Amino acid sequence: MEQPAPVIGSTPTLAATVVPPSATPLVFSGARAYSSVEQQVALGPRITGSWPNRNLGNQILNQLAANGWVTQTQVFSYMNTPVRNLVGVKGTGKDIIILGAHYDTRRRADRDQQHPDQPVPGADDGGSGVAVLLELSRVLRLNGTGKQVWLVFFDAEDNGDLDGWPWLVGSRYFANSLSITPTAVVVVDMVGDMQQDIYLERNSNQALAGRIWDVAQGLGYSSQFIRQLKWSMLDDHTPFLEKGLPAVDVIDFDYPYWHTVQDTPDKISPDSLARVGRTLQVWLESQ
Ligand SMILES: [Zn+2]
Repeated sequence: MEQPAPVIGSTPTLAATVVPPSATPLVFSGARAYSSVEQQVALGPRITGSWPNRNLGNQILNQLAANGWVTQTQVFSYMNTPVRNLVGVKGTGKDIIILGAHYDTRRRADRDQQHPDQPVPGADDGGSGVAVLLELSRVLRLNGTGKQVWLVFFDAEDNGDLDGWPWLVGSRYFANSLSITPTAVVVVDMVGDMQQDIYLERNSNQALAGRIWDVAQGLGYSSQFIRQLKWSMLDDHTPFLEKGLPAVDVIDFDYPYWHTVQDTPDKISPDSLARVGRTLQVWLESQ
């Protein structure tokens, strides 16, 4: 196994075309997020090291820059495979919040009875989290909030237990090379299921989760953001928890198409994406 090389922090690049802040508040659009899911799946499986993965990564960086975020990449090699985390930063506040999602998809649908050797299309597992973060990059207004937000797109989350890979390669590398201390880390994964049930995840920081579930309740989403502990997840929040940081996994693990070839956009709904996106938007834009 190859040891990760030191961080190659690229020079932050400001977009040539920075969108001027809109006077009108923008609202998270479930329809826009849904079309991002469709576009991601249309690229093909975004397996770490593959061309669709690279292509999606470039598109994410371009969109972040076009929405006025300062972008950075973190590139390293693992199992002789190039791995690339993507970061967008906005806001000047002292309160630093990391919002993360993985953008890679699983190389094989090992839970699929019929097609265990085919790759996962990753509409929900990969696509939904990316879609929520990208739509947030369009609508978030942080002026006056005292916050700085880092949108982090992790690579190599989802190869675990296949071909000698562990889980969480990108997020672990990112957490280990972190030079700032975020006040909160929120990971969004598998949030687009039409039948949405987001339970409190057991390993998450419950005080922080409670604040997010409060916002969801205020928006009328109590039937989807369920205030009960259910699953215990190993996910991209884990490396941050291991470093003692308050981290939460927002995940709907009651998804029958998980790690199958049926994880396709027809299982996803714009309303589900909007509930998660609007909850995070209101939480982040609050004082
Ligand atoms: Zn997965």
